[in-house]
Amino acid sequence: MKASPQDQRSLLDVADIDRRLVVANAQRTNPPQVARIHELQAQRQTQTHELTVRAGARDDIQAEIARVESDVNTARTRLERDEQRLTAASAKEAVALENEIASLRRRMSSLEDTELEAMERLEAAEAEVEQTRAAIAATNEEGARLSAEAKELVADATTAIEGLDRDRAAVLGRVPEALSTLYDRIARNGVGAGLFRESMCNACRVILTASDVATIRSAADDEVLFCPECGAILVRTEDSGL
Ligand SMILES: [Zn+2]
Repeated sequence: MKASPQDQRSLLDVADIDRRLVVANAQRTNPPQVARIHELQAQRQTQTHELTVRAGARDDIQAEIARVESDVNTARTRLERDEQRLTAASAKEAVALENEIASLRRRMSSLEDTELEAMERLEAAEAEVEQTRAAIAATNEEGARLSAEAKELVADATTAIEGLDRDRAAVLGRVPEALSTLYDRIARNGVGAGLFRESMCNACRVILTASDVATIRSAADDEVLFCPECGAILVRTEDSGL
């Protein structure tokens, strides 16, 4: 195929646009934040489970304290009743009542120790619940921030793609249809065009053999050449060193 050196050079601009389109498309379909967002989703699931377990442990201690307090109240009521009865008791009754009062006092003292110990455990359990709540809030905050960043990146990429598509159509519209069709066909499966420079195809970055370079050197300026390695249209300019 024949094409003017100028039209062939335009293909290098299109190839550059295509390179930027690949980057923008990757950014749009898979912004870099996505992997971390997935990690955070899994992390939140673990943390939510941990919160359920820790809140359950705290509730158990609260129930335990309520039981102990109820036992203390029962013992106190009986103690008060016994002390009341003691004022009008016979000597024989008094001995039995005094024994019971002493026993109730020991029981109350023991229950109060139990309650104190449970209160300490409750404090630790509540701290663990708060710690998990704070961790979940931090996870949610990072997730929201990254999602917003990703959304912005996708929007930017979409705008960039629209602009690049317009530029691409404009540049390709200025070259003969046969050449633009040829370019598009090659670009569907790889790089459409590359600069030939210092014996190298810049589309695939392979150094061509001396005999390939000799063929390129002897070709007419308006002859469309192809890289023998990658099939891209090989474009010659004054930078080619021919
Ligand atoms: Zn090549």
